Amino acid sequence: MTNDKKEYQVIIIGGGPSGIATSLILTAKGISNCVIEAQEQPTRKFGEAIPPNAKPLLKKMGIMHLIENPKHIAYYGNKSCWGSDLLEQKEFLNGIYGHGYLLDRLYFEKQLRKHLKSNSGILLEGYRLKKILNTKKGIEASIQKGNNNTILRSSYIVDATGRKASVCHKLGVVKKNMDTQFAISFKANLIEPIEHQINVEATKNGWWYMAPQHNNELTIMFFTLQELLPEKKLLIPFIRKEMEASLHISKLTKIAKIDFENINVIPSGTSRLDIPYGDNWIAVGDAAFSYDPISSYGITSALASGFYAGHALASQLSNKKDAMLTYRFIIEKAFQAYMEKLSSHYTEENRWKDEPYWKNRFLKKKDRDSVLINFALE
Ligand SMILES: Cc1cc2nc3c(=O)[nH]c(=O)nc-3n(C[C@H](O)[C@H](O)[C@H](O)COP(=O)(O)OP(=O)(O)OC[C@H]3O[C@@H](n4cnc5c(N)ncnc54)[C@H](O)[C@@H]3O)c2cc1C
Repeated sequence: MTNDKKEYQVIIIGGGPSGIATSLILTAKGISNCVIEAQEQPTRKFGEAIPPNAKPLLKKMGIMHLIENPKHIAYYGNKSCWGSDLLEQKEFLNGIYGHGYLLDRLYFEKQLRKHLKSNSGILLEGYRLKKILNTKKGIEASIQKGNNNTILRSSYIVDATGRKASVCHKLGVVKKNMDTQFAISFKANLIEPIEHQINVEATKNGWWYMAPQHNNELTIMFFTLQELLPEKKLLIPFIRKEMEASLHISKLTKIAKIDFENINVIPSGTSRLDIPYGDNWIAVGDAAFSYDPISSYGITSALASGFYAGHALASQLSNKKDAMLTYRFIIEKAFQAYMEKLSSHYTEENRWKDEPYWKNRFLKKKDRDSVLINFALE
């Protein structure tokens, strides 16, 4: 077993979109930093839709060229059956930002790591955060790879660990779940090509998401509440029944070969920290706020919060005292806007308003206002 000691101004735990975005900004600002990522090689993650209005941010961050790679496919709108039995089409092309992108997510994660390294970023791959000591002098973090334990010291630690918010958890900071939504996800291969669009359909117990991918692959997910999920052995009959009950998704699945054996069930509701920073730490991406995938906002928000957190940390380290508060204001404003949109979107569907999934879905004004109320109390 070896023990090395290293010092940085900032250490970032998590090498997904939010952690890498934070590091890119810090490095550009001359702040020494290091990203710790548990997975030696990128793994396939859930989520691939980048809406057209993310483009200004991607350009500002200098990563637009990554998305324009032919591995990622352009998508031109949404087809949605929501609020009535009719299938409605929304084309993006008339909007100011043009089309969106359906990412090859695994490739995107590889691209981000490569981009970080070629921009002088430091990425320790295969290292997992084990312990944190947060003292007046700063942070001491123990990271581990196999039998190799290393202690890193820094002024700040960034929680970029995704939905689980592992750094916050270790620091005793609780993340609140506002929803018990889960996604049931499985893969399929298209027998014949479909339009490059996202298909969404509301049903009695939740909603369907379907999007084409590279190489005729198809992403299919059903979103429902944890309390409506059957026990594991009944999952396949449950999902088949839900599929048959859909009006439009069921037609599309007829032209696909579905792999029901490789099903994943993953949390996918809204959750948030009360305050996204504290003494010597800041949270970014899903660790700070996790978004309902109906919004297609997770990846964009992860990149954006990393961008703003990088700026806030650089300012804080040069003694600009309100930098963290400004960060909080920016990301809470975005979360507030999301909650308003989420609530109005779920309200549009009232065919099953007394069913458990749809009942009071984000209709409570106190949920939507909680961000601003907290802020006003400060
Ligand atoms: C079902 C589903 C569908 C989705 N669909 C979309 C979509 O269509 N569009 C969209 O924009 N978003 C979507 N999302 C959300 C999107 O994928 C996330 O918002 C995004 O990945 C968040 O990025 P992040 O960097 O914050 O976290 P992550 O991408 O989760 O990265 C966190 C990283 O931290 C590492 N890590 C964790 N713990 C440790 C530790 N202890 N030590 C070291 N490293 C650690 C992990 O290995 C991981 O690489 C979806 C999410 C789900 C669940």
